[in-house]
Amino acid sequence: MVVNLLNNIGQAYTPMSSNMEIKKRCIYCHNEFIAKTTFTKYCSHRCNQKHYKLRKKEAQLQNEIETKPKEFANEEIRKAQMTSGVIKEEFMNVKEACRFLRISKGTLYNLIKKGIVKKHKLNARSIFKRSELEAIFND
Ligand SMILES: [Zn+2]
Repeated sequence: MVVNLLNNIGQAYTPMSSNMEIKKRCIYCHNEFIAKTTFTKYCSHRCNQKHYKLRKKEAQLQNEIETKPKEFANEEIRKAQMTSGVIKEEFMNVKEACRFLRISKGTLYNLIKKGIVKKHKLNARSIFKRSELEAIFND
C-alpha cells in the first residue's frame, strides 16, 4: 500500500518536465530555439563557446583598464606620493586624460596649446593631474 502510493506520486511528477518544449532565444545569436531545460541559454554548443570566449575577452579588457594606473605609476610619482603621505592626486597619461574628459587626442592637444589643459612632463611621458583636469570646469 505504501509502495503504491509512492509510485503514484512519482508518476504524477515526472512526465510533466520531460516532455516540455521551451521556446527560447539564444543569448548569443538571438535565434529562437527549442530548449530541453529552462536553464538552456544557447541554441548550440558553438554559441555557448563563442559567448564564453567573448565574455572572457571583455573581462580581460576590464582588468587591463583597472590595472593600468598601477603600471603607469613610476618611481617619481611613487616618491611624491610617499612624501605627501596621502595620495591626493591621480595622475593620468594622454589616453586616460582623453577618457576622463571624454575628448579625442586631437582635442586634448588643442586644449594644451591654448593653455586650458596643463601638461606635465616626466622624462618622455606626458602626465595630467586629475585636480587640474577637474579645475577646467571651475569657472
Ligand atoms: Zn545561438
